[in-house]
Amino acid sequence: MPSYDILIVGAGHGGAQAALVLRQQGFAGSIAIVGDEPELPYERPPLSKDYLAGDKSFERILIRPPAFWEERDIPILTGRRVTAVDPAARTVTIAGGDTIGYGQLIWATGGSPRMLPVEGHDLMGVHVVRTRADADAMMGALDATTNVVVVGGGYIGLEAAAVLRKFGKTVTVLEALPRVLARVAGEPLSRFYEAEHRAHGVDVRLEAKLECFVGDGDAVTGVRMADGEVIPAQMVIVGIGIIPAVGPLITAGASGGNGVDVDEYCRTSLPDVFAIGDCAAHENGFCGGQRIRLESVQNANDQAAVVAKCIAGERHAYHAVPWFWSNQYDLKLQTVGLSTDHDDLVVRGDPATRSFSVIYLKAGRVIALDCVNMTKDYVQGRKLVTEGLSPDKAKLADTSVPLKELVL
Ligand SMILES: Cc1cc2nc3c(=O)[nH]c(=O)nc-3n(C[C@H](O)[C@H](O)[C@H](O)COP(=O)(O)OP(=O)(O)OC[C@H]3O[C@@H](n4cnc5c(N)ncnc54)[C@H](O)[C@@H]3O)c2cc1C
Repeated sequence: MPSYDILIVGAGHGGAQAALVLRQQGFAGSIAIVGDEPELPYERPPLSKDYLAGDKSFERILIRPPAFWEERDIPILTGRRVTAVDPAARTVTIAGGDTIGYGQLIWATGGSPRMLPVEGHDLMGVHVVRTRADADAMMGALDATTNVVVVGGGYIGLEAAAVLRKFGKTVTVLEALPRVLARVAGEPLSRFYEAEHRAHGVDVRLEAKLECFVGDGDAVTGVRMADGEVIPAQMVIVGIGIIPAVGPLITAGASGGNGVDVDEYCRTSLPDVFAIGDCAAHENGFCGGQRIRLESVQNANDQAAVVAKCIAGERHAYHAVPWFWSNQYDLKLQTVGLSTDHDDLVVRGDPATRSFSVIYLKAGRVIALDCVNMTKDYVQGRKLVTEGLSPDKAKLADTSVPLKELVL
């Protein structure tokens, strides 16, 4: 049985980063990454942006070129799915029955797309966007597609909608809630993106009641709504979130539910088993210490660094400021902090100019910014969040006052 000092399960953002920071830290022990996808680690965000648009090749979205992993003696065991963990024996089992031993285990498995439990969900032409294979399947079907229905008005769905409009497809977005981006942003940002998509010809439907997908036996032909209307679609994209891939860890006794619970060093309740990235439920200081999962490259990379350093003997608790981005049409959104619990907000600049920021406050303190085509606010406002400052609201709204003047 092969065995490694550090075994990383999941060859995505977090897994790759953990291995490379371990080597940067001078860790000389053996490291291997096991991943169930056939590819070397690649960036996931372009799958709904420039990769889907055909503007970036797959080689350009690899996290590191193949030689990088070889030179650092980090074997990447692709196409292998871990189905069980035995924390007493310190082994994992791969589908098919092989086992691999570990000294310390880093679980970085992300999640799988949530499917809609409705009739027709398994028809050909119903897509999700999580892996390169998912994006390739969509790209391969584009020529035969005129009408697309996107289920879910979150970032991934809206980004895909923007790309598909660029290809001239007829696009309908179905959002069950009264506004798009409802779970992640305040109302002004939602209304702005709703208007942008409509201006680009997307049929955005809010409080949409989807009944099922209809097809011709094999392939999807439309989406039936609760009122009986059938929206034609040769392609349906379901973007309604993920289910964290933590089954084997929970079965092995790790505590968790929606993800696996970790402490400030990303340690699970199992000995020498860490978890990072989308699947790690951690207490986050940027939302009052609530236990949450963050689905972002920032979180995966920063938690990976915490674990790698912890293993290398340098302990730093995880307290990285959350940030995120989204590209839709010519709009670059950059967010810092977590806005979910805000009790007040300030719109800085005029959304009609397509360059503005939404600043979120809680009990008078700045907790987050969403900056649209406004990198300056994003850069200068960061400190307002990290320091939890309480500037005057009128000044926050006044675009003639640079945010950096409010952090003094
Ligand atoms: C289309 C799309 C667009 C996005 N856009 C942005 C963005 O603009 N900005 C941003 O910050 N974030 C974005 N994200 C989110 C970001 O990509 C994730 O937060 C990040 O990839 C999380 O890294 P991770 O290592 O936790 O998981 P992942 O990168 O998902 O890697 C997990 C890997 O583990 C594998 N795996 C799962 N279970 C097993 C198992 N049992 N055995 C072996 N391997 C397993 C998975 O197949 C996958 O390869 C986007 C995500 C998607 C899908």
